[in-house]
Amino acid sequence: MSTQSPTPRPGREHADGLTGAASVVIEGLHKAYGSLEVLKGISLTVGAGQVVCLIGPSGSGKSTLLRCVNLLETPQQGRITIGDFDVTDPEADVDRMRRHVGMVFQQFNLFPHLSVLENCTVAQVKVLKRDRAEAERIARGNLERVGLAEKADGFPDQLSGGQQQRVAIARALSMDPSLMLFDEPTSALDPETVGDVLAIMRNLAAEGMTMLVVTHEMEFARDVADKVVFMDGGVVVEEGPAAEVIGNPREPRTQAFLSRVL
Ligand code: ADP
Ligand code: MG
Repeated sequence: MSTQSPTPRPGREHADGLTGAASVVIEGLHKAYGSLEVLKGISLTVGAGQVVCLIGPSGSGKSTLLRCVNLLETPQQGRITIGDFDVTDPEADVDRMRRHVGMVFQQFNLFPHLSVLENCTVAQVKVLKRDRAEAERIARGNLERVGLAEKADGFPDQLSGGQQQRVAIARALSMDPSLMLFDEPTSALDPETVGDVLAIMRNLAAEGMTMLVVTHEMEFARDVADKVVFMDGGVVVEEGPAAEVIGNPREPRTQAFLSRVL
């Protein structure tokens, strides 16, 4: 399981096996907090360039699963690979992996004391070692992409929740991620700003970004997901095309959940 880290080729920032859209393969993942078993053997695959939507009741382990993918939590058992990078290899270079994984949280987690532009440049400079001018050029491009170019010099507390979330997405994109993880990105938003964030996520999906999205937005899942995975009690209960899992669920637990949220 232990593989040698490939030596990055000079002059190519991402020439290290995680370039472009990466697949994610999760096999037999277990995670417990003390005696509380939260993930009980989860297996799940996201193909390169695919969108997988993860649905399920509160407490079913969705956030924990996402947090295991970028090692914000350490699983006790199982294997996760992103592209050809074995995340669960004890020798894995966690920092290198995280450079390629963008994460967007329910609570945007912007740096309140930094301007919008600085929010989108600080990690590029610190982590990717880009020079400031280049980082700013890339940040402005991504702010443009999320429709907030004119807010570059503003501060997070001057923005609506939806705008802050779009900045959080621009910040993540500025790292050229091979994979984007979204944990209920619209759950904390006012209803009128949800659509803007979902529209950006739709564009990203159409551009071929690999995305693993925890969401209660069933319409988004139905339209965008290549696959929908229903989790309950730390296991995958049902997975398949959205039309099947959402439109015609087989499992009683999926049916019961959907009847509550649809
Ligand atoms: P979901 O995102 O599906 O709502 P979570 O992954 O947040 O579920 O939580 C799954 C279970 O794990 C819950 O019972 C939650 O209380 C528990 N849990 C999550 N994080 C921790 C933690 N850091 N310590 C202890 N228990 C936790
Ligand atoms: Mg959660």
